[in-house]
Amino acid sequence: MAGEPQADCLFCKIVAGEVPATVVRESQAITAFRDINPQAPTHVLVIPKAHYPDAASLAAAEPQLAADVLVEAGEVAAAENITAGAGGPGNGYRIVFNTGSGAGQTVFHAHAHVLGGRGFNWPPG
Ligand code: IMP
Repeated sequence: MAGEPQADCLFCKIVAGEVPATVVRESQAITAFRDINPQAPTHVLVIPKAHYPDAASLAAAEPQLAADVLVEAGEVAAAENITAGAGGPGNGYRIVFNTGSGAGQTVFHAHAHVLGGRGFNWPPG
Protein backbone atom coordinates (compact mmCIF):
# COMPACT_ATOMS: atom_id res chain seq x y z
CA MET A 1 0.00 0.00 0.00
CA ALA A 2 1.20 3.54 -0.76
CA GLY A 3 3.23 4.98 2.07
CA GLU A 4 3.82 1.66 3.85
CA PRO A 5 7.36 0.81 5.02
CA GLN A 6 9.42 -1.22 2.55
CA ALA A 7 11.63 -3.99 3.93
CA ASP A 8 14.46 -3.29 1.47
CA CYS A 9 14.49 0.51 1.92
CA LEU A 10 17.45 2.06 3.75
CA PHE A 11 15.54 5.18 4.80
CA CYS A 12 12.61 3.10 6.10
CA LYS A 13 15.20 1.31 8.24
CA ILE A 14 16.46 4.67 9.53
CA VAL A 15 12.86 5.66 10.36
CA ALA A 16 12.43 2.35 12.21
CA GLY A 17 15.69 2.85 14.13
CA GLU A 18 17.22 -0.25 12.55
CA VAL A 19 20.01 1.79 10.92
CA PRO A 20 21.64 4.54 13.00
CA ALA A 21 21.51 8.16 11.86
CA THR A 22 22.35 11.55 13.29
CA VAL A 23 18.85 12.97 13.58
CA VAL A 24 18.60 16.78 13.78
CA ARG A 25 14.80 17.20 13.64
CA GLU A 26 11.88 14.87 14.05
CA SER A 27 8.10 15.14 14.03
CA GLN A 28 5.31 12.60 13.78
CA ALA A 29 5.50 12.59 9.98
CA ILE A 30 9.07 13.62 9.17
CA THR A 31 12.65 13.03 10.18
CA ALA A 32 15.79 14.91 9.24
CA PHE A 33 19.29 13.50 9.61
CA ARG A 34 22.82 14.28 8.48
CA ASP A 35 23.95 12.82 5.18
CA ILE A 36 26.58 10.12 5.67
CA ASN A 37 28.64 11.54 2.79
CA PRO A 38 28.22 15.32 3.12
CA GLN A 39 28.69 17.46 0.02
CA ALA A 40 28.70 20.75 1.96
CA PRO A 41 29.38 21.88 5.55
CA THR A 42 25.64 21.43 6.15
CA HIS A 43 24.09 18.46 4.37
CA VAL A 44 20.87 17.23 5.93
CA LEU A 45 18.28 14.90 4.43
CA VAL A 46 14.62 15.63 5.21
CA ILE A 47 12.34 12.64 4.62
CA PRO A 48 8.72 11.74 5.16
CA LYS A 49 8.48 8.72 7.44
CA ALA A 50 5.99 7.22 4.98
CA HIS A 51 7.60 5.48 2.05
CA TYR A 52 7.23 7.07 -1.37
CA PRO A 53 9.90 6.36 -3.97
CA ASP A 54 10.49 9.98 -4.96
CA ALA A 55 9.29 13.54 -4.46
CA ALA A 56 6.82 13.44 -7.34
CA SER A 57 5.01 10.34 -6.08
CA LEU A 58 4.96 11.84 -2.58
CA ALA A 59 3.46 15.10 -3.83
CA ALA A 60 0.87 13.28 -5.94
CA ALA A 61 -0.26 11.03 -3.07
CA GLU A 62 0.12 13.36 -0.08
CA PRO A 63 0.55 17.01 -1.10
CA GLN A 64 0.37 18.26 2.49
CA LEU A 65 3.16 15.89 3.51
CA ALA A 66 5.27 17.09 0.57
CA ALA A 67 4.69 20.66 1.72
CA ASP A 68 5.67 19.66 5.25
CA VAL A 69 8.99 18.33 3.91
CA LEU A 70 9.68 21.76 2.42
CA VAL A 71 8.69 23.56 5.62
CA GLU A 72 10.98 21.28 7.63
CA ALA A 73 13.79 21.88 5.14
CA GLY A 74 13.45 25.59 5.85
CA GLU A 75 13.50 24.93 9.59
CA VAL A 76 16.68 22.90 9.18
CA ALA A 77 18.27 25.76 7.25
CA ALA A 78 17.33 28.22 9.99
CA ALA A 79 18.65 25.94 12.73
CA GLU A 80 21.90 25.41 10.81
CA ASN A 81 22.31 29.17 10.29
CA ILE A 82 22.63 28.86 6.51
CA THR A 83 19.72 31.06 5.42
CA ALA A 84 20.39 34.04 3.17
CA GLY A 85 21.41 36.91 5.38
CA ALA A 86 22.42 34.67 8.27
CA GLY A 87 26.00 35.78 7.80
CA GLY A 88 27.39 32.33 7.07
CA PRO A 89 29.86 31.56 4.29
CA GLY A 90 27.24 30.53 1.72
CA ASN A 91 24.68 33.34 2.09
CA GLY A 92 21.90 30.93 1.21
CA TYR A 93 21.24 27.26 0.76
CA ARG A 94 20.02 24.73 -1.74
CA ILE A 95 17.14 22.24 -1.51
CA VAL A 96 17.53 19.35 -3.96
CA PHE A 97 15.20 16.48 -4.83
CA ASN A 98 17.10 14.14 -7.12
CA THR A 99 14.35 12.30 -8.99
CA GLY A 100 15.37 9.27 -11.03
CA SER A 101 18.74 7.59 -11.39
CA GLY A 102 19.74 9.84 -14.30
CA ALA A 103 19.36 12.83 -12.00
CA GLY A 104 21.52 11.20 -9.33
CA GLN A 105 18.89 9.55 -7.13
CA THR A 106 20.36 6.52 -5.37
CA VAL A 107 17.92 5.99 -2.49
CA PHE A 108 14.35 5.52 -3.67
CA HIS A 109 12.59 6.95 -0.63
CA ALA A 110 11.64 10.59 -1.15
CA HIS A 111 14.09 13.01 0.43
CA ALA A 112 15.11 16.64 0.27
CA HIS A 113 18.80 17.44 0.45
CA VAL A 114 19.41 20.65 2.41
CA LEU A 115 22.87 21.90 1.51
CA GLY A 116 24.61 25.02 2.76
CA GLY A 117 27.63 26.58 4.36
CA ARG A 118 29.42 27.19 1.09
CA GLY A 119 28.71 28.77 -2.29
CA PHE A 120 27.12 26.78 -5.14
CA ASN A 121 27.43 26.91 -8.89
CA TRP A 122 24.71 27.00 -11.53
CA PRO A 123 24.01 24.96 -13.61
CA PRO A 124 24.47 22.00 -11.25
CA GLY A 125 26.69 19.13 -12.34
P1 IMP B 1 20.22 10.60 -3.59
O1 IMP B 1 21.48 10.24 -4.32
O2 IMP B 1 19.60 11.91 -3.99
O3 IMP B 1 19.23 9.46 -3.64
O4 IMP B 1 20.62 10.81 -2.08
C1 IMP B 1 20.84 9.75 -1.19
C2 IMP B 1 21.73 10.28 -0.12
O5 IMP B 1 21.69 9.38 0.96
C3 IMP B 1 23.21 10.40 -0.54
O6 IMP B 1 23.62 11.76 -0.41
C4 IMP B 1 23.94 9.49 0.44
O7 IMP B 1 25.17 10.00 0.86
C5 IMP B 1 22.93 9.42 1.59
N1 IMP B 1 23.03 8.23 2.41
C6 IMP B 1 23.19 6.93 2.01
N2 IMP B 1 23.19 6.12 3.07
C7 IMP B 1 23.01 6.89 4.16
C8 IMP B 1 22.94 6.60 5.57
O8 IMP B 1 22.98 5.47 6.04
N3 IMP B 1 22.78 7.68 6.40
C9 IMP B 1 22.70 8.96 5.92
N4 IMP B 1 22.77 9.26 4.62
C10 IMP B 1 22.92 8.23 3.74
